Amino acid sequence: MVLKIIVTDGRATGVTFFAYGKEHTVNARKEIILSGGTINSPQILMTSGIGPKDHLKEHGIAVVHDLPGVGQDLQDHFMMPVVYTCTKPISLSQAGSKEQAELYAKGKGMLSSNIAEAGGFLKIDPKSPDPDLQFHFSPGYFILDGAGNPTDGSDAFTIMPSLVQSKGTRSVTLAPADPSTKPLINHNIFQNEKDYDVLIAGVKIARKIIAASALDELRGKEYLPGSAVQTDEEIKAYINKYIQTIYHPVGTCKMGSDDMAVVDHKLRVHGIAGLRVADASIMPTIMNANTNAPSIMIGEKCADMIRTA
Ligand SMILES: Cc1cc2nc3c(=O)[nH]c(=O)nc-3n(C[C@H](O)[C@H](O)[C@H](O)COP(=O)(O)OP(=O)(O)OC[C@H]3O[C@@H](n4cnc5c(N)ncnc54)[C@H](O)[C@@H]3O)c2cc1C
Repeated sequence: MVLKIIVTDGRATGVTFFAYGKEHTVNARKEIILSGGTINSPQILMTSGIGPKDHLKEHGIAVVHDLPGVGQDLQDHFMMPVVYTCTKPISLSQAGSKEQAELYAKGKGMLSSNIAEAGGFLKIDPKSPDPDLQFHFSPGYFILDGAGNPTDGSDAFTIMPSLVQSKGTRSVTLAPADPSTKPLINHNIFQNEKDYDVLIAGVKIARKIIAASALDELRGKEYLPGSAVQTDEEIKAYINKYIQTIYHPVGTCKMGSDDMAVVDHKLRVHGIAGLRVADASIMPTIMNANTNAPSIMIGEKCADMIRTA
């Protein structure tokens, strides 16, 4: 595990990491590429003394370079589940050790599902230039990261209305200044009342989709939100209880040239030589869809830049 980046006279020269029970240091001949992801890249920069100076001082970290945008401008997508029981034993609840063995041996079978088998995009706000709601469809229960799923082996399917244009003040900051502990992730989800409107519409549309005759053979009872949840206020209360990230954090080491930018157009950390960040954290603005492919693209682009440096 990487603990910190060593900076000497304004240049990143090495990395300290913990492995096999002790700390080690490696020195870089050319440059260092930080790819810890949107949560951990800013954490590693901050524990290395690169970040908002007041926050670093608060944690007793010597300021190597004051970079106020590190850990700021966190952006993400958020979802909640609309779950129906399924009348046939064909959902992911049926997957057990046999299916696991099949996956490992042949790369096939029920557990080769990517969990989000289908999806779609909608505009709830007609004035929005792009979709503000995304649906993911899962052939099983998907409640609170799966931690809320029943374990009784029953079958279900889930539609997850997801906010893909949620704006707000969000951040990753240090809890203790120790990279082996989790940083504080401030998602601060509902700063904008409009986000509720989008999700409330999403619940209603999900119910309509599930009521379609194509699902007559499979549709059981509404498990969540449940038939008692009907008015907008009731749906809002349900959303508050079941909202979660859809794991698309970006933006905490954003690219740009303004005061809050962390990296330049070649992914180089402003003010520190020999250090780039190449992961989802550099996206200045989150896209309205899933983030994995763009993250791979950032890595590929970084590889090209290094080759031609
Ligand atoms: C459960 C889940 C499901 C997802 N599903 C989808 C999906 O279906 N479609 C989609 O498009 N996107 C999906 N995503 C999002 C996608 O995975 C991310 O957008 C993408 O992986 C971001 O890439 P990254 O390189 O920025 O970070 P990561 O892939 O998170 O890579 C960061 C790496 O750094 C390592 N690291 C962190 N700190 C340290 C340290 N101190 N020392 C050493 N190593 C460290 C981590 O272990 C990790 O391997 C999902 C994410 C999650 C968590």
